[in-house]
Amino acid sequence: MTDVPPAAVPGAAVPPAVVEALLAQPRPVCAYVYDAGALRRTVAAVRAALPPGTLLLYAVKANGHPGVVAALARHVDGLEVASGGELQLAADTGASTVVFGGPAKTDAELSAAVATGTLIHVESLLELRRLALAAGGRPVRVALRVNRADAGLAGTHRMTGVPTPFGIDEATLDEAVALARELPALRPVGFHLHAVSNNLDAGAHAAYVADALDWSVAAARRLGIPLEYVNVGGGFGVDYTGDERFDLDALRTGLAAVTLPPAVTLAFEPGRFLVAAAGWYAAEVLDLKRTHGRWFAVLRGGTHHFRLPAAWGYSHPATVVPVDDWPYPFVRPEVRDAGVDVVGELCTPRDVLARDLPVTRLRVGDVMVFGNAGGYGWDISHHDFLRHPYPQMVLLGQ
Ligand SMILES: *Cc1c(COP(=O)(O)O)cnc(C)c1O
Repeated sequence: MTDVPPAAVPGAAVPPAVVEALLAQPRPVCAYVYDAGALRRTVAAVRAALPPGTLLLYAVKANGHPGVVAALARHVDGLEVASGGELQLAADTGASTVVFGGPAKTDAELSAAVATGTLIHVESLLELRRLALAAGGRPVRVALRVNRADAGLAGTHRMTGVPTPFGIDEATLDEAVALARELPALRPVGFHLHAVSNNLDAGAHAAYVADALDWSVAAARRLGIPLEYVNVGGGFGVDYTGDERFDLDALRTGLAAVTLPPAVTLAFEPGRFLVAAAGWYAAEVLDLKRTHGRWFAVLRGGTHHFRLPAAWGYSHPATVVPVDDWPYPFVRPEVRDAGVDVVGELCTPRDVLARDLPVTRLRVGDVMVFGNAGGYGWDISHHDFLRHPYPQMVLLGQ
């Protein structure tokens, strides 16, 4: 058994349009529902917290569903991609601004990025050399991704100030800039400083941005780089198990106090925060059983569709959507006022979405809906393990 802690927080109400879409699905229900209206509203709220002129990009890896990316691309200023596949997806959506990061770019990916005029976040000295070769003499704008010596921020996935494969160690930045100077195709225009994922403290995030700008101005001056671009990455957090919020008002207040250096474009590239609340994962209860004193609700679905709770080791809150239809001639199993372990259809005890989820009534045939599933849900899951059919993908508000 896994050591997933109990689901402390019951799920939030599921919007009526989402319920309606779910009840229209073939049985047994298994679907992701995304809402373009919710995506648009989140982008608007984030933008209102950022200083005027800030570039708001969407980090595609959080959710690469083409409909979701296209819906977001209409409202953000551009897309951040981290693979050749995402680069192609960004081109297919017609995004005007695309930036390309990631520590393992191939020559083919670098060439494709150069051909489309993408700004490249370079992550190593060797990559500078390979990019110059791929550029074949064409001028390329690059931002150097730096793993700063000390730029920690709380969050679940720290990437700078600690040893990671991401970016150029600050201690070798001078060497990287000297190398870039020898490679005439490359034109360094600034820095990329994505530091963390899932930070819930918006005030601390604003302080991190202020510090990143100060650091960038000082480093650019010292290294003789005409500073045009500072990308502070993503990392706005989502509290999956409680009701903490990444407070956009606190972010706005904090950022309003920051003086932007002249001629510098400040860029953000959140993923999770832009998509999480606009997605629901839903799966029908196929069986209910009690073994060794615990209730199990077995879903037509599971962690091969929604791996986040298993990957992070928490219980994801869920809401029961009752389905009254019962087509069988025998008694419908149900459980009342109990804690239920909500598990998937995979033949492994690790296929657990929530432990000890409190339910007032749950029947076979009801649908379990998991909110906040729009980011790092389907995209990080191992879809083909056991070869079950994929969920339906529904995009509302198109
Ligand atoms: C993953 C990633 C992001 C997005 O991070 P979120 O935590 O989803 O906001 C942004 N930039 C880079 C470089 C990333 O790797």
